[in-house]
Amino acid sequence: MTSRFENRIREEILPPVIRRYFSQSLCPDQMPLTSLSKFRKEALQEVVTRAYENSPFYRQKMTLAGVKPQDIKNLSDLAKIPFTTKDELRQDPWTLLACDKKDVSIIHVSTGTTGGQPIYTMQTWKEYYLNHSVIYPFLHPVAQDDLCFVALPYEMSSAGLSLHNKFLVGHQAAVVSVGKGGAYSTPEKTVKLMGDLKPTIIATSPSYAITLAEAAAEASLDLTSLPLKRIWLAGEGCSPAFRKRLEKIWGTTVSFSCGTTESGIIAMECDAQNGYHIAEGNVLVEIVDPQTGKVLEPGEIGEVVITCLLRFDIPLIRYRTQDLGCLEPKPCPCGVTLQRFHLRGRMADQIVLKGKRFSPFYLENFLMQLPEVGNWYQFVVKPGDNEQLKIRTEVAAGVEPSPELAAKLAVKMEAAIGIPCKFELVNKLERTMKKAIRVVYE
Ligand SMILES: [Zn+2]
Repeated sequence: MTSRFENRIREEILPPVIRRYFSQSLCPDQMPLTSLSKFRKEALQEVVTRAYENSPFYRQKMTLAGVKPQDIKNLSDLAKIPFTTKDELRQDPWTLLACDKKDVSIIHVSTGTTGGQPIYTMQTWKEYYLNHSVIYPFLHPVAQDDLCFVALPYEMSSAGLSLHNKFLVGHQAAVVSVGKGGAYSTPEKTVKLMGDLKPTIIATSPSYAITLAEAAAEASLDLTSLPLKRIWLAGEGCSPAFRKRLEKIWGTTVSFSCGTTESGIIAMECDAQNGYHIAEGNVLVEIVDPQTGKVLEPGEIGEVVITCLLRFDIPLIRYRTQDLGCLEPKPCPCGVTLQRFHLRGRMADQIVLKGKRFSPFYLENFLMQLPEVGNWYQFVVKPGDNEQLKIRTEVAAGVEPSPELAAKLAVKMEAAIGIPCKFELVNKLERTMKKAIRVVYE
């Protein structure tokens, strides 16, 4: 039951458009489709109106494009508004503010793996509270008696803190901020805490889930003895075959939640494990042609563009993420009607081989189905040489590396992807506390 205090907080902080649609609970995956559609339309109009009236950045953008808030009558009218790019956000930290600077409560920063000036993402307290209060209990089942380990970075980016607050504020579960490779956070310590506290949920990245499993093996902690209900992956993508390996190692369901530091949560995976359901109460997702900017139809692959529906003070409208994806046209067997989409990796990470573009996750999916291959690998790209795929990889435990094995793996991989492959088998690749580097340029 909602307490009087909670009611008061909600009354005070929720914009009227939210209050009209979310009465007691804020759970878009349990709302009737017609109410959710109506909410999304009205929330978009509210965001655009506030941006136009209070943010010089968006006012100028819309004026140049000849668009006024009253032109946004339906969700499809969003395409009339120009995009917001990473480069624009790198110019001035305060660029997006549609509120007083003193109302800013939290600032995150993304430097990106490709370098460049940092991007600062800000939220007011109201927005922050609101974004963490909206939960998806069917897609993201977390109960009050769950004990959640957040093994994601807490510094600078929002990865750790964002899921931390989702568990704590949204689901009212218990949270342990174990972090990922910070000053006090080592895989060994995290494994010790796992043995002592017995988490039921862990949020981490795909590569760090392997690092933790390796530390658990060193410490003789049997992961399958933990009362785990689920592992949530965030921060990096991985292929279905890599996920299968994680499920086997950890003895639990492994699901994805995806988002960016700039936009917050974008989507969550259901147990059908075939695409992510968009967090439609939080964001609008468009897929556009990266060259022309034209909005693409479901099924067509393009750049993922995000508009935040719950950010009224510091809006983010039509943000180009530089990630590739496509909307799924078919309904999901799980019954949730929130639209699904598929991620295809970052635009900058696509590997060109014999004139064709490959997502590293697509290639990884075949690689991880070869049982002799270990859990750490790199695709080695040499500028000017795109006739074959070079794969540097560890072998699985108990497997002896040999030239014969390398040749056998190359034949299998070529049969799967249609590109000649060359394997370099190594004993151990360097472990990293940062995002795993799957594509190296030599
Ligand atoms: Zn589903």
